[in-house]
Amino acid sequence: MSIAALIVAAGRGTRAGGDLPKQYAEIAGAPVLWYTIKAFAAAEGVTDIQVVIHPDDAEHYGRAVPTNGGKLWPPVPGGATRQASVLAGLEAMHGLSPTYVLIHDAARPFVPRRCIAGVIDALAHHAGAIAAVPVADTLKREQSGQTISATIDRAGLWAAQTPQGFRFGDILAAHRRAAAEGLTHFTDDAAVAEWAGLDVVLVGCDSANIKLTTADDLAAAVRRLAPAMPFETRTGTGFDVHRFAPGSSVWLCGVEIPHDARLDGHSDADVGLHALTDALLGAIGDGDIGQHFPPSDPRWKGAASHLFLADAARRVRDRGGRIVNVDVTLLCEAPRVGPHREAMRRAIASILAIDVSRVGVKATTTEGLGFTGRREGIAAMASASVALPA
Ligand code: MG
Repeated sequence: MSIAALIVAAGRGTRAGGDLPKQYAEIAGAPVLWYTIKAFAAAEGVTDIQVVIHPDDAEHYGRAVPTNGGKLWPPVPGGATRQASVLAGLEAMHGLSPTYVLIHDAARPFVPRRCIAGVIDALAHHAGAIAAVPVADTLKREQSGQTISATIDRAGLWAAQTPQGFRFGDILAAHRRAAAEGLTHFTDDAAVAEWAGLDVVLVGCDSANIKLTTADDLAAAVRRLAPAMPFETRTGTGFDVHRFAPGSSVWLCGVEIPHDARLDGHSDADVGLHALTDALLGAIGDGDIGQHFPPSDPRWKGAASHLFLADAARRVRDRGGRIVNVDVTLLCEAPRVGPHREAMRRAIASILAIDVSRVGVKATTTEGLGFTGRREGIAAMASASVALPA
């Protein structure tokens, strides 16, 4: 028997003040989606994981995914609505045709193992089963101007969560039929299944399975994760130099800056990102950039250096660690870094999937002294602090 998790991460909802869709927002050093994938990767019985993402989010996704022993399939692009995205994910799994599929919102990263297990168990006897909690608050219907017109009996009312599990063939057929009939109003997959006449049961879960929706939810999630594990702080440093060569722009800290020369190197020669990659690798004692991406390997010729940095960040997260802060200093007479500093900070924050407040970028000249003073090249130094499980 095979059981696939279909994680729906194609939404555009951004948290207050942020510009990242909430499933990529950082909580305690890792993106929300990372925790969600981890939950299913660790769940007993789950054999495959398929994530549906927004077509614009491939880079965010690349930074969010943990390595997980091979359960995870490459992401597929979603559609204009949640319903369309689920159908796209189900169609992508058609070749796999698992026995059961557990459809889950990316924004519910704390789904308890017992809820996943409960849904799977219920599928032995029912076509569908969903995680849900009994409604605890008294419900009011508003008439107008916030005047109450009725109090609704909450007996027998449940709030639907995810995962929502189904026999794969049944839910694929139901979704296909709904799409073919132009019905696009369903807000969860159980509603599609109910419409198709499938028998769907409620599986009691709990409030830990919260859907992170607001900035407050994210902040609460951070507080919840923070004390869970004793962490210790590790620090690493990095240093790099690249020489100038004839050209018209340089890459510095993930930003291309017009200049009267380029930096020479096997990759794009982004000296800032190279120093920072080494700082992160140093903090976790995992070699250096040359070891993981040898200049002798033709795969890395002309490579964009954000690949190296994102890989270092993934190595931190694979150890259960989180990046506390990073800091880069560029040493050069030219180009001027100041006008590009904020773009560099944002680029690094995006590559590392951390908040921009955790990123420092500074620059200095060397007063005309030495190779940087003679404008023969650019040097960069960096430090990184990482919290690792003690
Ligand atoms: Mg280098």
